[in-house]
Amino acid sequence: MSAERIDGKAYAAGLRQRLAAAVPAFERATGRVPGLAVVLVGEDPASAVYVRSKGKATVEAGMASFEHKLPADTSEADLLALVDQLNRDATVDGILVQLPLPRQIDEQRVIAAIDPDKDVDGFHVANAGRLAVGQPGFVPCTPLGCLMLLQDRLGDLSGMEAVVIGRSNIVGKPMAQLLLGANCTVTIAHSRTRDLPAVVRRADIVVAAVGRPEMVKGDWLKPGAVVIDVGINRVPAAEEGKTRLVGDVDYASAAEVASAITPVPGGVGPMTIAVLLRNTLVAAFRRAGLAAPEGL
Ligand code: NAD
Repeated sequence: MSAERIDGKAYAAGLRQRLAAAVPAFERATGRVPGLAVVLVGEDPASAVYVRSKGKATVEAGMASFEHKLPADTSEADLLALVDQLNRDATVDGILVQLPLPRQIDEQRVIAAIDPDKDVDGFHVANAGRLAVGQPGFVPCTPLGCLMLLQDRLGDLSGMEAVVIGRSNIVGKPMAQLLLGANCTVTIAHSRTRDLPAVVRRADIVVAAVGRPEMVKGDWLKPGAVVIDVGINRVPAAEEGKTRLVGDVDYASAAEVASAITPVPGGVGPMTIAVLLRNTLVAAFRRAGLAAPEGL
């Protein structure tokens, strides 16, 4: 058996097109376009790349991007003051503070200061709570993107056995909540799980969000399982001095057993920014008291 490759890049491109198509209706109704503010503190090169690509994608979708770059020695008070200003700015629908933050700043305090209705990253405890009790809020972008790929592939997920490997607040836990909301029977596995292969083997759906290169092997999978690989790991490439990206799943052996699997790169990765734009558009419609377009 050779698994079908789930093309997250293509799905994300389609989502971004649907978002761009919905912007003019918002602009006609409100006289402005949705706006996303992204705050970068310091010079971390990976964070700078993420912020740049988020800004570019925002503009490509016809929305406004407000980039705030602060020096690495910015105080927590100054960052909180900026967040407060963005909370009150009517042209800003979404606020994203790029993590990690420098050591002198308490990340939790900053996340807590973001207006939950502008928290398009879905990291505020109010949004974690809304997700847990099934109220509308904002869901972290990566797990919501994974759910979209699963529903696109499988349709109704009711009754399926889902195993999420990883219990972080930004991926594993919200992923499990989303799958539960979609009526799966959900198991969360983590670093203390006993006999992980046996747990994974009962899953119709496996979501791996661990951060360990190629940990999940094909012989851990139930034949026909659908595998979503969230992991992004940089490992040495065959050519000396070069690196390559791999997921948390050993793609070659898993593809022999699974019915469908996301590749790394080109699977979950492209979904994250597309869902960020989706959350920003939804935030804009909600804040304006308008119904968000269907199918996003
Ligand atoms: P994290 O380090 O916060 O959490 C990892 C989780 O894996 C923990 O809950 C831990 O219990 C579990 N774990 C660790 N070792 C384990 C083991 N041996 N067996 C079972 N479980 C184990 O990581 P995270 O932020 O959730 O990210 C996970 C991976 O997803 C990373 O590779 C990260 O780069 C990637 N990621 C990708 C995207 C994307 O856009 N595609 C977004 C976020 C994270």
